[in-house]
Amino acid sequence: MGIVLLSGGCFGPVTSTAAPSISPTPSQNKTTPILKPGLSSDYKLVDIQTIAPDIRLDMRYATANNFLKTPVYPAARCLLRAPVAQALKAVQADLRTQGLGLKLYDCYRPLSVQSAMWKILPDSRYVANPANGSRHNRGAAVDLTLVDAQGKELEMPTEFDDFTELAGRDSTAMSPAARRNVDILTAAMERQGYTSIVTEWWHYDGPNWQRFGILNKSL
Ligand SMILES: [Zn+2]
Repeated sequence: MGIVLLSGGCFGPVTSTAAPSISPTPSQNKTTPILKPGLSSDYKLVDIQTIAPDIRLDMRYATANNFLKTPVYPAARCLLRAPVAQALKAVQADLRTQGLGLKLYDCYRPLSVQSAMWKILPDSRYVANPANGSRHNRGAAVDLTLVDAQGKELEMPTEFDDFTELAGRDSTAMSPAARRNVDILTAAMERQGYTSIVTEWWHYDGPNWQRFGILNKSL
């Protein structure tokens, strides 16, 4: 099986640094944007546990249970930009009505950690050059999976960070149960403005991720 190039994914380079798309609404003054990028509170990093404590965490990069085989985070925390965190809280509330929930693997990743990953594994098939960064460095992307009401992980196409074609959301090799679970997760995420990528079933970009710049604040 081939190696999937991760452009735009968890470790892939940022392909666009465009400003937020702002368009006027017909019913309003033409200078009034739909998206209001000026709210400073939107740029704050929020700990997801402070607003949605029932979301489960398995922050793999704070442990040795990751593809680098060593911890690269000093703390097992999920930080996200405030609107991205609020959207995730809404996903959790949605899934709760189905007897399901989220388990998080990765959220905001400091740029210094991107550099540390690059030092351990300077291979652009797996890790983006920190000169480019990733959407995780913006506090605007999440890696996650589905759990049942008891916190048990549901079947998915592969394990987290399986860098093969089998991790693709369009893979035809996955079981019917995995297909159904990916579709449930994707529908719940998309209802709150998240977008998926084709190469990694676990990765979602937050709503309006483009408005957030790359950060190097410590976890
Ligand atoms: Zn990711």
